[in-house]
Amino acid sequence: MPFIDVRDVVKRFGKTVALKGVSLGIEKGELFTILGPSGCGKTTLLRIIAGFETPDEGRIYFEGEDVTDMPPDKRGTVMVFQNWALWPHMTVYENIAFGLKLRKLPRNEIDKRVKWVLELLGLEGLENRFPGQLSGGQQQRVALARALAVQPRVLLLDEPLSNLDAKLRLKLRGELKKLQKQLGITMIYVTHDQEEAMSLSDRMAIMRDGRIEQVGRPEDLYLNPQTLFTAVFLGRTSLILGKVEDASNREVIVRVGDTVIRAINHGLSRGDDAAIVVKAEGAHITKPQALHEYETLRGRVTVAMYLGPFIEVRLLLSGVKHEILLDLPSDITPPAVGNEIEVYVPLRNIHAYPIEEEIVQE
Ligand code: ATP
Repeated sequence: MPFIDVRDVVKRFGKTVALKGVSLGIEKGELFTILGPSGCGKTTLLRIIAGFETPDEGRIYFEGEDVTDMPPDKRGTVMVFQNWALWPHMTVYENIAFGLKLRKLPRNEIDKRVKWVLELLGLEGLENRFPGQLSGGQQQRVALARALAVQPRVLLLDEPLSNLDAKLRLKLRGELKKLQKQLGITMIYVTHDQEEAMSLSDRMAIMRDGRIEQVGRPEDLYLNPQTLFTAVFLGRTSLILGKVEDASNREVIVRVGDTVIRAINHGLSRGDDAAIVVKAEGAHITKPQALHEYETLRGRVTVAMYLGPFIEVRLLLSGVKHEILLDLPSDITPPAVGNEIEVYVPLRNIHAYPIEEEIVQE
């Protein structure tokens, strides 16, 4: 039995069905991320797990206990929001102590906990400042400190870093991950930023339009996306449409324009329309030794840009409308625009799926 068990949850807001039957299991001590585009239902799901919303259908269990109708404080959940929501008229110390006072902890225990989290988050010396006298990064640390001081059973974070500049976001992301492991606390983290999700998560769920698309470790989702949506959503990818000429359980041969492309098969049969997703990374122009593990793409270079770690190339295959984005190693001379070249792409980076109009049209 998982630590947190979300079963068949449906949530409606008037005519909008925000969650269309969501089931999830989250383990104790896990950093679990919910990733998905805007409006897919991430915040609604988090608020239901926290206890701020009640589902229309389905149940929520914490360690086997049905908590569906239990308020957040009884569940032991604490949520940290995107806008931090610190009380402006209270000092850092008072902000952190507030929740502990509500819980009627003895004064010396409150003092001990506030000092513990101040030290944990590197906020010593700032306890008498007001939120308005802190930088964005410090305010977010106070918000985290305030949440951790309560020692919640589950800490829920809704895009907590999105109001910070890129550099600070990276720094706090690292700190958060370290802290989570150090304290062994169960965290559920909502974001629409795939890099943030991949770098933080023990496991993650991809959400789409009120449903869970795929759940797994970041590397499992990245290397083996089970659906077209997951494949397109994770990483730098190109999409090509074609028709299946031949199919085995493992691989398909898809006709695209004047050429055929071999890809990993996700449920396609001969004659089907197929959407091929190609990851940009891992491509070479030097012929690899294990050639059968690669697919050769021949096309005309429309763009070649030296970006430091790699050269970004756009390749137009004969008879194909859209270019394919590929990253070549940067220790070669960039191919000239207009030239025909052969690029070797690892087969593990080419996946084919049945077409889904909604995704293909974008
Ligand atoms: P974002 O990343 O933009 O915050 P999200 O994935 O968190 O989006 P939700 O906020 O959960 O998505 O919203 C899911 C759907 O439910 C949206 O269509 C939204 O407009 C709708 N919705 C959410 N809360 C309410 C509400 N209180 N009243 C009406 N509709 C709502």
